[in-house]
Amino acid sequence: RFVLVTGATGFIGAHIVDALLSRGIRVRGATRSHQKADLMIKARPQFSHLLEFVQIGDFETRSPEGLVAAVEGVDGIIHTASPFTYDTTNNERELIIPAINGAIAILEAARTNPQIQRIVITSSFASVLDINRKGPYFTYTGADWNPLTYEESIDPTTSAVVAYRGSKKYAELEAWKYIQEHSPGFEIVALCPPMTFGPVVHPVDRVSKLNESNAMLWKIASGVNPLPVSRVPFWIDVRDLATAHVEALISINAGGKRYIPASPERFSYGIAARIISDALPDLKDRVTQEDQVIDESCGVDGETASRDLGFTYHAFEDTVRDLINQAILLNKS
Ligand code: NDP
Repeated sequence: RFVLVTGATGFIGAHIVDALLSRGIRVRGATRSHQKADLMIKARPQFSHLLEFVQIGDFETRSPEGLVAAVEGVDGIIHTASPFTYDTTNNERELIIPAINGAIAILEAARTNPQIQRIVITSSFASVLDINRKGPYFTYTGADWNPLTYEESIDPTTSAVVAYRGSKKYAELEAWKYIQEHSPGFEIVALCPPMTFGPVVHPVDRVSKLNESNAMLWKIASGVNPLPVSRVPFWIDVRDLATAHVEALISINAGGKRYIPASPERFSYGIAARIISDALPDLKDRVTQEDQVIDESCGVDGETASRDLGFTYHAFEDTVRDLINQAILLNKS
C-alpha cells in the first residue's frame, strides 16, 4: 500500500502519518512547506524508507500546483488539509474557498490515477451540527447536516467560527456531489470529528504555535479567566481519530459512509481545568476553576464509527494530561 496524506504536517495529519507508518504502510505527505516536510522526516529516522513528502500549492486556486504529481503511484488518499483557524480577516477567501478548492482539486487529481480506490476526507462535526436546534433530545448521526446556507457562511458580518462551519459543510458537500456527478473509479469516506485534542507529533516549536483546538487547553493551563465555553460537549482524542482514518481507508465496508468519530464521554473546559489542576499541582493556583453546565440536550452517535472502524476511545483525562505535559515541556524549551 502507498497512501497520500494531505495536511500531513498538521495536528491531525501527522498522527495519521504515524498511524500508517506504524502499520508498515508507505506514506507520501503533501505540504506547502519544504521546511515542515524536512522536520517531519527528520523526526522519524526509523521510517525514512517509508516516508516522503511532496510540495503542493495553496488551495487558493482550483488547481493547486503539484497535486497531480502528488497522487502518482499511490493507491489511497487521506485528505486532511483545510484551513482551521479563527484568526481571519476575510472568511470567504481564507476559510471557505480554500476548503472547497482543496476537496475538489484532490478528487480531480485522483481521477488521473486509476489505482486509487478510496479517499478519506476529514470533514468535521461542524458540518453536522445545527447550532440553533431546540426541542426534544436528539442524537446526531452521520445523516445530519448543519443548515447554514452558503450565503450565510460568506456574509462578511459572520464570525470566523460560523464561516468555518460553512467551509467544512460546503467542502464536504461538493465532494459528495462530485462523486455523484462523475462516478469516478474510487469511493469516498467522510469523517466528521468534533473538537480534537491530544499530544502533538507535528512540527511545533513553541506553545504559541499549537493548533487551534489544543490551544484552548493551553489557554486554560495558562490561567485564562473566565474559561472558554464549548458550544457542544463532544470531542475525540487525536490518536483515536488517526486510527479511524486509517481504518476508513482500508475497511472494505466503510466505502461511501459518513461517520462521526466522537467519544461517548462529554467534556467541558471546566472539566479540563479540573483535570489540569489535579494532574499538575504546580498549575493549581493559576488555573481558573469553574463549574460549567454540560449540555445534555443532545447526543452524538460515535458508536457506529468505533464499531465499524474497530477502535476504542481514550478517556478525556488522559488526553488532556498528555497534551498539557507535553505543552509544559515545549513552553520551557
Ligand atoms: P492544522 O492547522 O494543524 O492542519 C491543517 C493543515 O492543512 C495544515 O498543516 C496545512 O498544511 C493545510 N492547509 C491549511 N490551509 C491550507 C490551504 N489554504 N492550502 C493548502 N493547505 C492548507 O489543523 P488540524 O490538524 O487541526 O485539522 C486538520 C483537518 O481536520 C482540517 O480539515 C480540519 O477542518 C479538521 N478538523 C479539525 C478538528 C480539530 O479540533 N483540530 C476537529 C474537526 C475537524 P501545510 O501548512 O503543511 O501546507
